[in-house]
Parts: sequence; C-alpha cells; structure tokens
Amino acid sequence: MAFINHRIDTRLIHAGEPEERIMGAVSLPVFQSSTFEYAGQSSYDDLKYIRMNNTPNHEVLHRKLAALENAETALVTSSGMAAITTTLLALFSPGDHLLVQNCLYGGTQEFVTADLAALGFEFDFIDADDPADWAAKRKPHTRGLYAETITNPLLQVGDLQALAEFAQGNRLISMIDNTFATPINFRPAEWGFDISLHSCTKYLNGHSDIVAGAVIGKTDLLEKISHKLIHLGGSLDPHACFLLHRGLKTLALRVRHQNRSALAIAEFLSASDAVERVNYPGLDAPFGGGRAGKLLAGCGGMVSFELKGGLAAAERFMQRVTIPIIAPSLGGAETLISRPAVTSHAGMSPEERQAAGISEGLIRLSVGIEDTTDLIADFKNALGR
Ligand code: PLP
Repeated sequence: MAFINHRIDTRLIHAGEPEERIMGAVSLPVFQSSTFEYAGQSSYDDLKYIRMNNTPNHEVLHRKLAALENAETALVTSSGMAAITTTLLALFSPGDHLLVQNCLYGGTQEFVTADLAALGFEFDFIDADDPADWAAKRKPHTRGLYAETITNPLLQVGDLQALAEFAQGNRLISMIDNTFATPINFRPAEWGFDISLHSCTKYLNGHSDIVAGAVIGKTDLLEKISHKLIHLGGSLDPHACFLLHRGLKTLALRVRHQNRSALAIAEFLSASDAVERVNYPGLDAPFGGGRAGKLLAGCGGMVSFELKGGLAAAERFMQRVTIPIIAPSLGGAETLISRPAVTSHAGMSPEERQAAGISEGLIRLSVGIEDTTDLIADFKNALGR
C-alpha cells in the first residue's frame, strides 16, 4: 500500500487515499448514496450498500486506519460500543470463557457482566499487572483476553507486552481498547495484539461532533467481525465517515499537544496541597510510571484526580473552573471535565466502583488543545479560592 513506509504524520494525510483523486478533488467527497449501480459483482458481499460498510468513504478509512496501526485490516463502525460488542459477539460463543481486565470503560464492563453473561458467556476479571493471576484464572475453554491500553478512568497501564505474549502462548484472541492511547502513542499490532478497538468518537475524530468506532487487526478475524456487523447493522454513515476522515488528518498535532499539556497539568496538580491523588501514566507513580515510558510514545490527554475534601471539594472545583466544559466523553478540542461516578461509570454499583478504586469525588479531565498555561491558571484559581 502506498505511503505504508512513511512516518505516521505522513500516513495520516496520504495513506489509503484513492489512487486517482476523484474529479481532482483534494479532499475526498462524501458519497451520500445508500446504494450503488450494479457493476457485475458476483458476490453479495461486493454489492455496494452503506450497511455493507463498503462505500468509497468507508474504504479509504479502512485502508488509512490499518496503515496507522501497522495492522492488516480495519473496519469502521457506528460507535465505539458497536465495535466492541460486534467483535465479542463475532469471535466468541456462549460457553466460551474470557479473561477481562478488572477496570474498563463502564459500557464495556456492563456489556460483559450483564449482556454476555445472560447469553451464557463466562468471564473472569484479571489484574493486568499480575501474570500469575492470568495463569490461575485461565480455563481449558478460555478463548479471549480483553484489556485497555490506558484504563478509564484510573489511567493505569498494565503489563501489555506480557498480556499479548500470554495470549499468544495460550492461543487466546487478544483484544485491546486503544481509544485513550491512539495510534500516535501505541500501536497494538506492533506488540502482538490481534485486535485493536477504538471509540473514534474521541481522539481519532477529535472534534466532539460524531459517534463512531473502529476495529483494527488481523484479516481472518476482521472478516468474521465484518460479517457480523453487516447482520447487526452497526455501520457508519458516510457523512460521519467524511468527518472522521477530516478529523484524522490533525490527529498527530492534537495528540502530541495533549500529551504535553496533560503531563504539565498532572505535574501541577501533584504539586498542589489541595490535591489528594493524581492518576496519569506519565507521573512517576508505582503503577505504570516506568512501564508507560517503555510502551507508549506519549501518555495521552486524560488525567484523573481526587481533591482533599472529597465529593464536596470536587463539585466546588468543577463549578469554579471557567475553561473546561462539564460534559462526559473525551478526546475533543475542548477540555472536558466530569465525575465518572455519575457519567462513564454510573452503570456500576457503588460497591463495584469502590472495589475498582473509583471514588465519588474522582474528577476526570480530558485535556483539549487550549493553551496549557491558561488551563493551569484556571485550575490554580479554582483550587485557591
Ligand atoms: N471505549 C472507551 C475507552 C470509551 O471511553 C468509550 C466511551 O466513552 C467507548 C469505548 C464507547 O465508545 P462510543 O461512545 O463511541 O460508543
């Protein structure tokens, strides 16, 4: 594929683009057509129809996303959850056992513990930092292993290299949600993961204006996932494809700024007397500090923290800041602030949240692309008053 040997910044712009520009257009037009004229295809899968995820807008994204993670194939979906749920339903069957990291995005966690369990899938939670735990929990019918590159909302980085090797050694399909890291900071295929999953709603699109997802990885697995997606119907609309394609072009610029800005904010918060605890993989914390440096090119734009004074102090702080917008989601140009206990992890019971280390007062920050000095001044003011 053209541009495959170029650096990621060049691949973001040029990889996967049509060989010949369509009518000379520098930017790929939107093909807002549900169906396409029959062109002699002999197989049903080759008919062009939006639900088959195969319009020109889809195909360019598939080639580009695979090139970004140095993977074989990619597939876009109508949301991050469509990517995750379709993958799990396509690759596993009732009776199969999965090893699942013990601190995941709330939607994924609930899908595994409620929906998959009701269908007869089995699972065990694992500590992504403890290989003895994986070995102890693996069963003869264990088929898959699921983790997140940087966990939501505690921002831990497990022993990812060992996880991929464990999966390979035990013939498990390894899946990793790479949303928080992005291909700029981590490329799962290069470390031996079979499948990388994304909520493209977040950094890959980067402008908080669409919902989209992606599955990136091995062709034989992606074929099964694509087939299931066509039946479940979680395909991405061409206009959302167009926006995702546009957003991707600035991914490297945005994420590198967010890496630097989030690190500076995490360091500022760590040094403040008003702050109890800061979670950021780039800090020299016991969990993830050194490992993040080995695995990741940057530690991403997410920071979470607790203030002295718990929930009341957190609510006060969130009301006082002037730049961040109080909203769930992440990965956009604007800095967003939220409390996971009432947003991303509201589906867990208070006991489950407590066991996972998610306190009521935990604040999650998605650092945008505003000026870092302005953000720190805003936080200083909100903490100081
Ligand atoms: N994975 C992670 C890490 C997330 O944070 C989210 C949503 O917040 C999802 C998956 C689900 O993505 P979507 O909302 O695009 O379905």
